[in-house]
Amino acid sequence: MEEHKIVMVGNGGVGKSAMTVRFVQDVFVTEYDPTIEDYYHKVITIDEKECGVEVLDTPSHLEFSSMWDCIYRSGDGFLIVYSITDRSSFEQVTNYYDKIILRKDVNDGEVPIIIVGNKCDLEIEREVSYQEGHDLAQRILCKFIETSALTKQNLEEVFYAIARETKNL
Ligand code: GDP
Ligand code: MG
Repeated sequence: MEEHKIVMVGNGGVGKSAMTVRFVQDVFVTEYDPTIEDYYHKVITIDEKECGVEVLDTPSHLEFSSMWDCIYRSGDGFLIVYSITDRSSFEQVTNYYDKIILRKDVNDGEVPIIIVGNKCDLEIEREVSYQEGHDLAQRILCKFIETSALTKQNLEEVFYAIARETKNL
């Protein structure tokens, strides 16, 4: 069976763990230890073929920054997550993007990356418009999607989309 390694990156609190657990176990978590680094696995069907998706949920801090080298290098595809309710998390997106490109030693557009604006159910707390997210993603040649780990809006779609992109490498 084909395996796809997906890495979740983004600031603390944006919902990386909630998205991962929601996708793999269909549970919405409200309190998840931010320091945990963990792998999750799920078998999905793409084009009538089963494939495994391994999701690495990264913590906010790692003891050794060299561990990031390993994490970034191991990923086939990446979800760079920010929260639409947290502008500072949006401002870090290009920073994560640059790190992936640098550590994987590839050019723009050569590694599957999707920019994800999570918590789109919290419309009244929105700080980053859809258009801003869309424009940023377009500038760095990535796909863009807004999701909610709570309502599951676009949640499966984003994992299927990144798995599909890594499949065509
Ligand atoms: P992480 O640090 O990026 O792993 O963030 P967490 O997954 O721990 O989420 C931080 C907080 O935001 C938790 O209380 C989650 O329940 C909440 N959260 C995550 N995703 C969503 C979402 O899509 N909608 C709402 N309303 N809350 C969310
Ligand atoms: Mg977490």
